[in-house]
Amino acid sequence: MAKTGNKKPNSENAGELLFLPLGGVGEIGMNLYLYGLDSGGRRQWLMVDLGITFPGEREPGVDVIMPDIRFIEEERKNLSAIILSHAHEDHFGALLDLWPRLGVPVYATAFTAGLLKAKIAEWGYDIDLPLKIIKQGSRFDVGPFNVELVTMTHSIPEPNALVIRTSAGTALHTGDWKLDSEPVVGSLTDEKRLREIGEEGIDAMVCDSTNALRGGSSPTEGEIGRSLTELIGKAKGRVAVTTFASNVARIKSIGLAAKATGRRLLVAGRALNRVIDVAIETGHLPAKFKYYGPDDYGYLPREEVLLLCTGSQGEYRAALARIANDEHRSIHLARGDTVIFSSRTIPGNEKSVGYIQNALADLGVNIITDQEALVHVTGHPRRSELKKLYGWCKPEAIIPMHGEARHLEEHRRFAAKQGIKASVSARNGSIVKLAPGQPQIIDEAPSGRIYRDGHLFLGADASAITERRKLSYVGIIVVSLLMTEHGEFYTEPSIILDGVPELDAMGVPLRDEILDSLEGAVLSIPKKRRKNIDTVREAARRAARGTVFRAWGKKPICKVLVEVISD
Ligand SMILES: [Zn+2]
Ligand SMILES: [Zn+2]
Repeated sequence: MAKTGNKKPNSENAGELLFLPLGGVGEIGMNLYLYGLDSGGRRQWLMVDLGITFPGEREPGVDVIMPDIRFIEEERKNLSAIILSHAHEDHFGALLDLWPRLGVPVYATAFTAGLLKAKIAEWGYDIDLPLKIIKQGSRFDVGPFNVELVTMTHSIPEPNALVIRTSAGTALHTGDWKLDSEPVVGSLTDEKRLREIGEEGIDAMVCDSTNALRGGSSPTEGEIGRSLTELIGKAKGRVAVTTFASNVARIKSIGLAAKATGRRLLVAGRALNRVIDVAIETGHLPAKFKYYGPDDYGYLPREEVLLLCTGSQGEYRAALARIANDEHRSIHLARGDTVIFSSRTIPGNEKSVGYIQNALADLGVNIITDQEALVHVTGHPRRSELKKLYGWCKPEAIIPMHGEARHLEEHRRFAAKQGIKASVSARNGSIVKLAPGQPQIIDEAPSGRIYRDGHLFLGADASAITERRKLSYVGIIVVSLLMTEHGEFYTEPSIILDGVPELDAMGVPLRDEILDSLEGAVLSIPKKRRKNIDTVREAARRAARGTVFRAWGKKPICKVLVEVISD
């Protein structure tokens, strides 16, 4: 190969450093990032995170949504490992379901690994995960990638940024982070190391964009703890606090608030028990962290109860929903008690949270949310925090991630204002060359979503989900026709209406109207042509649907079964 004189020695062998998000860029959730080294005619990949997102109204009945991994599944012989940045569901929630398709080693720090193991045990996953437990701040080789973890602060123990060094360049993947000078649990952000890495040179920083629209910086976890203690101290009656189960710092603060206010901590919700156990095991909560279970509730005087429970997002099966509906087997709240939502309502959950809050209000319970008091803080960087990190790391380019389109684009504009010369507007499926040279999108890879639906995995284009959505709007009519070989009705047609009103505006049963119209429609077909099942089926379907449309103004799904009985 001819040498080009203007390139640095070895630059042809160094190859290219690539970035390919398969989830998390253009959305908040379902994070899956691939880093690639394209060198010597071979592309090798490293996966960072493998998370889920939760279904909304457009995906009725779907349990969780995961990234479509067919691209990397086909390339798995070139996939070195999966590294988990932290243990939030949007970063590690799809691992146990999708790992069998990839089969590569999984790297995680102790807390993240502990939660994975707890889930495997609790949910009975039959997999033997090749889990490598790594220390925060450690540095190791994975295939052609040299990876260093840098300790960050976030809203869960052990959040890590990753420095990914290759022969072609260096990327800093920030993971989810915020700057918190008083995180309550875990270490401070490792500013010193970030500055050193900045001196060494970062070609591209792939950075959290969740709060890129918000100015200033956020309060610390310590401030939230003090504010909660004060609110709990002032409250009469029982106090319940609901928060994200994985927020160990918040759990610790609430435990301390119980002590400070002479109350006893009671915990309700399996997810909280799981996190507390793992946090004690990994040293994030003291070994003597003591709490009561729901069964102790009845024995405690009202003014001594401080209940910590799951359900801050209005999840209908969580402890708080059952308490609000007064359906919990041992816990009841009443007039004069207080519930603190130490959380933020995730967009999309407003209705379910509103439902729970109204049910609590009906019980006479006082409600405190982050709108009324300092009871929650975000785990993601606002603009002043982004600016600080840019200053420490001095990246050549910014690739915004962990954001919807408006967050990503605003993040790019903000970075440009701070003097960062280059940025790339990537989306899921963009193959971005990070280094050497100007970062840019060079290709596209297939990306998308997979639905976990019961025990099955469906593609996002699955007709089952589209049909289910339609069913939820308009219901279904099923008509069964038994015909003789001569094209006569063998018996009266059977009709089932599900999700369709029973009576029309005049009070006439729709079933009778459908019956009349479809019998008329079928019998008006010349007898010879009635032997054609398809003709009969279509005539019956049109008649049934037309009748319902005239009476109701809506077109339900209509299925007609025709069977011919031999004489
Ligand atoms: Zn996240
Ligand atoms: Zn997170």
